[in-house]
Amino acid sequence: MKDQVKEITSMEEDFAQWYTDIVKKAELVDYSSVKGCMILRPYGYAIWENIQRVMDERLKEKGHENVYMPMFIPESLLQKEKDHVEGFAPEVAWVTHGGEEKLAERLCVRPTSETLFCEHFSKIVQSYNDLPKLYNQWCSVVRWEKTTRPFLRTTEFLWQEGHTVHATAEESHAETIDILNLYAWFCEEYLAIPVIKGQKTEKEKFAGAKATYTIESLMHDGKALQTATSHNFGTNFTEAFDIKYLNKNGRWEHAHQTSWGMTTRTIGAIIMVHGDNNGLVLPPKIAPTQVIIIPIAQHKEGVLEKAATLQERIAKVARVKMDAGNKSPGWKFNEYEMKGIPIRVEIGPKDIENNQAVLVRRDTKQKEIVTLDALETRITELLQDIHESMFARAKAARDEKTYVAHSMEDMQKIADEKQGFIQAMWCGELACEERLKEELGVTSRCIPFEQVQHTTSCVCCQKEAKHMVYWGKAY
Ligand code: AMP
Ligand code: ZN
Repeated sequence: MKDQVKEITSMEEDFAQWYTDIVKKAELVDYSSVKGCMILRPYGYAIWENIQRVMDERLKEKGHENVYMPMFIPESLLQKEKDHVEGFAPEVAWVTHGGEEKLAERLCVRPTSETLFCEHFSKIVQSYNDLPKLYNQWCSVVRWEKTTRPFLRTTEFLWQEGHTVHATAEESHAETIDILNLYAWFCEEYLAIPVIKGQKTEKEKFAGAKATYTIESLMHDGKALQTATSHNFGTNFTEAFDIKYLNKNGRWEHAHQTSWGMTTRTIGAIIMVHGDNNGLVLPPKIAPTQVIIIPIAQHKEGVLEKAATLQERIAKVARVKMDAGNKSPGWKFNEYEMKGIPIRVEIGPKDIENNQAVLVRRDTKQKEIVTLDALETRITELLQDIHESMFARAKAARDEKTYVAHSMEDMQKIADEKQGFIQAMWCGELACEERLKEELGVTSRCIPFEQVQHTTSCVCCQKEAKHMVYWGKAY
């Protein structure tokens, strides 16, 4: 039987096809019979489980508790907060029947659970002693998206949604920023993806929020991706849902709220930030398998036994597997490159004779020979080094694709000829933001916390500028 080597479209030829090829050939997902809904296969789900494990631990350390809300929201409940319902109505799925019987009231399948949490909070929050409430939920939500892409934008997606209630405006603001920092830390320290932290403009903020904060990252093709968001609601929802508490002075006050979410979209970001023309490149810290051992000439005496002892040793420092299947080593190299496993260990008769193994790192494909005495130490070092190089490469690529525009002409030229983040000054007016979207096809990604003042006037209308904004084309 001839070994079939999997091949993918090169990203330079067709980026969208390259992405789809990786998603399928690395066996992350399969398409389902419902448009926009994906089947997460074991390998894709294992990545999500690693993301989930790290985030769940961190959230619990910070005092958050997990809960589970129902997946249905009665129409009357969804409608309680005006901006929220207006924002979400176009993408809500409705349940109208139970069996053959028409329901007295339609139920929406949660697109997000603010309304459910609020109804519950209105019952359990009474006094300042009840605050803060720091809740988190792991679940799936449904948004009837017009265009969909595996991971990046699906009709149903997995996420965590945090919902917190606080006594004061200062506390809810602090929580919103604290969580944004947690998301940024996670992306950089675990996914090796550099992010820009900032605030969304009024136009781009979450329906019902007082302020939305975001982390934005840049993909290989120069398009931006909103990677996670954190919202401060102030009292917008607590007024609509009458969530009040008795303060220390015995007076009733509306509580202050936040919500925040990170989804399976992060896996799309991993693919589009780190992947190459041989497939997926996984950041070591969330890779389901960090080391794959490939025995060479495995029919020769002693090879499989030696490989098995190496596996046992490596298992003490990393997530390791061995492939002793009957495909050729060449096929296996290709397969695990496609799957993005950070380190490959090759061990054959010659290596055994010399008390060594060959290590190949996935990110740079660099090969090195390591003496078996130093195997565990070298693997530990390499995993850390791979993480750091992946982050450094992604950051350099992003910085290289970050442009500064001083005028509409600059902006036009960059938007037409290049893809990337564009830094430009803005007056704060919706009209300018809309004009940039209509004429140049760029949206405001965020008002970054780290401000640089390039000029004093708005790139669009020349009036006095209020902020520097990151603009770009986005997924
Ligand atoms: P939101 O509740 O709208 O703030 O969404 C939280 C985060 O979910 C966003 O910042 C996106 O990163 C992500 N997200 C939004 N829509 C989708 C979708 N259709 N599929 C996957 N992820 C999504
Ligand atoms: Zn302007």
